[in-house]
Amino acid sequence: MIFKCRNCGGNTVYEPSRKRMYCPHCESLDSENIVREGSLTQCANCGAPITPGQYASAGRCEHCGSYLVHNERIEGVFEPHLILPFKINKDMAVERLNQEFHKKTFLPSSFLSQKSLEKLEGIYVPFWLYDYQAHYDFEGEGTRVRSWRQGDTEYTETSYYHIIRQMEADFDKVPVDASFVMDDGEMDLMEPYAYQELEDFNPKYMSGFDGEVYNQSAPELEGRAQVKVRDASESLMQQSLAGYNSIRPGRKNLNLNRDGVRYALMPVWMYLYQYQGKTWRFQVNGQTGKVIGKTPVSRGKVLLYGLTTMVSVSTIFYLIMAILGAL
Ligand SMILES: [Zn+2]
Ligand SMILES: [Zn+2]
Repeated sequence: MIFKCRNCGGNTVYEPSRKRMYCPHCESLDSENIVREGSLTQCANCGAPITPGQYASAGRCEHCGSYLVHNERIEGVFEPHLILPFKINKDMAVERLNQEFHKKTFLPSSFLSQKSLEKLEGIYVPFWLYDYQAHYDFEGEGTRVRSWRQGDTEYTETSYYHIIRQMEADFDKVPVDASFVMDDGEMDLMEPYAYQELEDFNPKYMSGFDGEVYNQSAPELEGRAQVKVRDASESLMQQSLAGYNSIRPGRKNLNLNRDGVRYALMPVWMYLYQYQGKTWRFQVNGQTGKVIGKTPVSRGKVLLYGLTTMVSVSTIFYLIMAILGAL
């Protein structure tokens, strides 16, 4: 499908700064019509053959540049339950990268050039959001130690406690990304998203961006959610056990019940930067603006910096010699 302007026939896109559909051609707002033509192999605008990637659910036609949303990958079993619409647009994402990196001394100069930053792409990344009820039974022995001095004698009193804890915790929307392209560690760093801003899925939010359908099913990825919930439950339990000098666990039993799972799309600005034959990946959280990625170091700049440091050191050295000589 494609979103077209009622007034001029142009391709309308979702504009995050206005939170509305926008026609870049005649600048009208909310003038979109859904045109359900085209397919995974044919552009809904120009009719040219297209070849979207294996998991692409939205993206540009390589011939006419229109933003297309692929019906086959957002309907039926692929229909997302929820979407977090982009909140920051491309200019704002560029601004965030500038704020984050403009002070880096050794950065290659092309890194923040307009030509490189043009390649920034907004993409909706597929996520599974799992809900769990955790039930944790803990039984163990704890000690509290008190010492004091009376005259020449030091006393130590150890009290023993039989500890019983029963904890119930609800975990809502535990996120796991369902994309092979996105590195799991990187996506975990993108957290947190403000999940209360999730909306019911509507394909109009995808117009103007790339999108991906889930690469793996919810059961396949559930193990990663469970690890997160177990870790979080354990740390909640540990907090409740603070105040003892030692704890010897007896019985530990953590049960997880899955309440539900939903398929959601999350916004990410992706910047792929080519430098000396290597691709450097940067992501900007499309909702919060948080930046992830390590910058390359330019050798030329390091050398230059080293040189100026040496010069200033030898100047100081020379000054000291001169003072010594004067004495
Ligand atoms: Zn228009
Ligand atoms: Zn086209």
